[in-house]
Amino acid sequence: MKCNMERMQLHQCLPLPAPLSVHIFPSFFCNFKCQYCLHNLSSESLEAKGFQKQFMDFAVYQKAIQDMSARGWHLKALIFAGHGEPLLHPDISAMVALAKEKRIADRIEIVTNASMLTHKLSDALIAAGLDRLRISLQGVTAQQYQTISGVELDFDAFWEQIRYFYQHKTDTEVYIKIIDLALQGAEERFEALCREASDVHAIEYAIPFVPEIDLGQLSGNCKQGNRQRSNVCSMPFYMMILYPNGDVVPCCATQPPAVLGNIKTDDFTELWHSSQQIRFLLRQLEGAGGIPVCDSCAVPAFGLQEGDYLDGCESELKLAYKTLLEKEEAQ
Ligand code: SF4
Repeated sequence: MKCNMERMQLHQCLPLPAPLSVHIFPSFFCNFKCQYCLHNLSSESLEAKGFQKQFMDFAVYQKAIQDMSARGWHLKALIFAGHGEPLLHPDISAMVALAKEKRIADRIEIVTNASMLTHKLSDALIAAGLDRLRISLQGVTAQQYQTISGVELDFDAFWEQIRYFYQHKTDTEVYIKIIDLALQGAEERFEALCREASDVHAIEYAIPFVPEIDLGQLSGNCKQGNRQRSNVCSMPFYMMILYPNGDVVPCCATQPPAVLGNIKTDDFTELWHSSQQIRFLLRQLEGAGGIPVCDSCAVPAFGLQEGDYLDGCESELKLAYKTLLEKEEAQ
């Protein structure tokens, strides 16, 4: 059966022969220290989480693309994002160009704070064929950036860079978002700014992705606590993440619940439905609460999309993944 994700529910498409999306984390460095982000934790806390600030070697990225290309993978999305700022990576436009050249995905996307978006870099990303630029604003004034992100920003110069990209792009979609916590009531200014520099814009709710940070203390109007927690986290059933050091992990949580392998020694595509990945998914089907890192993760409560819920399908999915595991282990 051909699976059309536009019309079908995720559980009807599992097990997927390849992930729908691969997230590349090219940088674990960030030039901001946003209040709600991992980068606001102390060095000791980051160390305790095993978080190491580093850039991805281009060779590591190239290997992932080669592996996917050799296997004929064509994803829905290849997304440059991560626990750092992708535009800090010196080779980011070359990374986009390579993914486009190899036709890795329907959509190549970058998630960024846009502070490094010089005219030169904009020209390079547009020429590389970037499909979507997703900009996370941390405010609509210099003062808000100072408060939320701890940075001194010339807001007019920053906005001119974004406008330049928008005015010079060809097919790239520019999506600008801000979280309610950063907006602090400045909706009208946000709307006015986005009208001149984006194709799509949205106000999103802050999600407590970093367990150590209490969003309720940062803002009274975040949605923390309003959603029912899902038994199963569906993220690892449709995505894979590549860390700067080459580690491959099953989701984009700030602390990975498992490491499936490393691109330097493993074929990226073979890690999808490797026995360690299937065993992790089977544990997930027993309930995310039974996996130490997942137990304290906000994604099952806040981060799942409509149509991706797997609760109620655990038994049939366990059968399917057990069969897959038997095949994998018989090889
Ligand atoms: S619950 Fe969180 S840590 Fe566990 S798989 Fe889902 S996103 Fe990852």
